[in-house]
Amino acid sequence: MTVLATREAVGSASVRPAKIVISGVTKRFQRRGDSFLALSAVDLDIAEGEFVSIVGPSGCGKSTLLYMLGGFVPASDGSMRIDGEPVSGPGLDRGVVFQEYALFPWLTVSQNIGYALDRSGRPRQERNEIVERYITLMGLRGFENSFPRELSGGMKQRVALARTFAYRPGILLLDEPFGALDAQTREIMQDELLRLWKTDRKTVVMVTHDVDEAVYLSTRVCVMSHRPGRIVEEFDIALDRSGSREEIVLTDQYRGIRNAVWMSVRRQVTESRTATA
Ligand code: ADP
Ligand code: MG
Repeated sequence: MTVLATREAVGSASVRPAKIVISGVTKRFQRRGDSFLALSAVDLDIAEGEFVSIVGPSGCGKSTLLYMLGGFVPASDGSMRIDGEPVSGPGLDRGVVFQEYALFPWLTVSQNIGYALDRSGRPRQERNEIVERYITLMGLRGFENSFPRELSGGMKQRVALARTFAYRPGILLLDEPFGALDAQTREIMQDELLRLWKTDRKTVVMVTHDVDEAVYLSTRVCVMSHRPGRIVEEFDIALDRSGSREEIVLTDQYRGIRNAVWMSVRRQVTESRTATA
C-alpha cells in the first residue's frame, strides 16, 4: 500500500495515510455536441475524521466533485481513492445527502430512514430504536407513515439527513444539506451534525454556498474557482468548538477566518462574472 502523507500528518511523529485522495481529477461534460471542462485537475487529500467544506461560485463543479466521490459520476481523468482503493461505484461506506434530497417515493418516512439500516443487517429492535430516535430528533413525529410527496421541502430534507445520519457511514458526502431549511431548523441540524461529528469523528465532505456554515462546522474550507473548477485556496479552521454557537461566532478568531474565506469566495464570484460578461 502506498502511504501518503496528509497535510496534518506532515511534521508530526506518525504519518497516517489519507482516507480520501483525489489527484489530478478532471471532468468533461458534453453539451449540445460540444465538450466542456467542468473540473480541471483537482487535487485534495482528506484525512480520516476531517470535516472539509467546499465553497465556490455556482456552477463551478462542487456537486460534480462530490458525486464523483460518491461513485455516481466517473472522472474523465485523474484518480480518486478511498482507503487506498479506486472509487468505482457507490457503496454503503459513503452516505450521500443530495442537493435535491432524493428520497424513495414508494417508501414512508420511517422506511426511508431505516433503509440503509435494513441493508446493513442491524437487529430489528436496534433498527427500530434508531429510526424512532431520528423521528423525534428531526421533528418528524406524526409523519412516520407519510410518503415523501406529502411532505414540504424542509421535511424531505430532514428525512434525507436522518436516513444518512442514522446508519453512521464512515464518510458523509453532503451537498448543500441544509439549503431548504428555515434558519432556525438549519441551526438545529448544523448543531446535530457537529455533535455527530464530535462523537463519531466521521470523515465529512460538505458542499455549501454558506460561508458561515462552512467555517462554523469544518476543520478545513476549500475554495473553488469558477469554471473549470479547481481548488484555489484552503483555510485550516482551528476553532475551539467547546462553547455554544453564540460564544463561538462572537470570537475574533471566528470572525477573522470567516472574513478571509468570504473575501476569497467573493474574488472567485467576481472573476466568474467578469469571465462570462
Ligand atoms: P455546482 O454544484 O458548483 O453549482 P455542478 O457540479 O452542478 O456545479 O455543475 C458544474 C457544471 O457542469 C455546470 O455548468 C453544470 O451545468 C454542468 N453539469 C453538471 N452535470 C452535468 C451533466 N450531467 N451533463 C452536462 N453538464 C453537466
Ligand atoms: Mg451544486
